Amino acid sequence: MEPGKSINEKQKIALKRAEELKGRVDDYREALKTIPAGFKRWPQILENQKRIKDYFKASDDDWDNWRWQLKNRITTTGVLKELLPLGKKEIEEIDKTGSQYRWAVSPYYLSLIDPDDPDDPVKRQCIPTIEEHLDEGGYDDPMGEEYTSPTTAVTRRYADRLIIKVTNQCAMYCRHCQRRRSIGEKDLATPREQLEEALDYVRKNEEVRDILLTGGDGFMQDNQTIAWLLDELDQIEHVEIKRFGSRTLVTMPQRIDDELCKIFSEHLPLYINTHYNHPLEVTPRAREACFKLARAGVGLGNQTVLLNGVNNDPFIIRKLNQDLLQAMVRPYYIFHAKAVKGTSHFRTKVEEGIEIMENLRGYTSGLAIPTFVVNAPLGQGKTPMLPEYLVSSGKGYIMIRTWENKIVRYEN
Ligand SMILES: *Cc1c(COP(=O)(O)O)cnc(C)c1O
Repeated sequence: MEPGKSINEKQKIALKRAEELKGRVDDYREALKTIPAGFKRWPQILENQKRIKDYFKASDDDWDNWRWQLKNRITTTGVLKELLPLGKKEIEEIDKTGSQYRWAVSPYYLSLIDPDDPDDPVKRQCIPTIEEHLDEGGYDDPMGEEYTSPTTAVTRRYADRLIIKVTNQCAMYCRHCQRRRSIGEKDLATPREQLEEALDYVRKNEEVRDILLTGGDGFMQDNQTIAWLLDELDQIEHVEIKRFGSRTLVTMPQRIDDELCKIFSEHLPLYINTHYNHPLEVTPRAREACFKLARAGVGLGNQTVLLNGVNNDPFIIRKLNQDLLQAMVRPYYIFHAKAVKGTSHFRTKVEEGIEIMENLRGYTSGLAIPTFVVNAPLGQGKTPMLPEYLVSSGKGYIMIRTWENKIVRYEN
């Protein structure tokens, strides 16, 4: 890089460096050949949808109606075995676990499953396995949420922001759910007086500037209640921003209807965090829902949970995050899975998450790089886990490690 070099010589160096850089993503590009993704698999998914629609005698309008999707959720092995090939043993195991932990899958989410792959990553997230039933470890409430709830529907772990749980219902019950204990047999919208109490709590606590509406799934509330909550929050002067947590962008994108988008566009600033875990879930239909929200002015983020056998692989996460950016969704967090009873088979080592972060920085857009966090015990907060880039420091300099693993001296 000496100033004495001619333009020609400099360009030669740049060309050599470009060749070297190309090689840095060879292994990823090779891996992509075997990573299934929703954009790529769409024709097969459409065939699955046709099969499922035929079974339910549903029209295209039915399929695109979220009330229809919700009403026709698959909740029994009797129906499931008509739509997916299941062995006798597997049926028994699903029923056994199903009698302990609730399950329900929207027809749309079911259509993402490859019927020929017994370990399909979407299937692992929605269809019970015997491992859940056999799990002896873990806690019902590892976060001690009951100890951080100053009023029934509120969870408060931070000074300036809190959660209001607006329902216990979801479009699909994740097998790795961290709030399994509150996902009972019945779908319950939080009663109006508990929501009023929560709003009162916000009104009385002026340091609270950020309200996160979730559940369950925040979008399982009806549009009128959502509009009412946002209206009420907008009238509280110290509330600066509202956020929703919803997985319907993944499991039931039909939920994002025009009316909901109109309500949101009238209540900015508003952010939505959703929960994509695998590139298979980022389909053209899901992206359409994300675009609608983006057009309404809503900021979209994604929270992934690292799940053994689903997405604990650096290339799967890189692909996921790059596909999310194509859907206008910004990767926000990757969570280390908590020790929730019935989910031990999904847990990874913290080191796997750090390796994944190591394989993002430098290799993909900074926009595709979320924060990897561990939840400190007993609700003490999200705690970032990072690969080390500062190697050592001395008088007037530090030693840093670059994304390509080169140790270099940096004058300080
Ligand atoms: C995760 C969480 C939030 C939001 O945290 P951010 O880091 O701001 O996204 C707020 N309250 C509780 C109780 C939480 O668990």
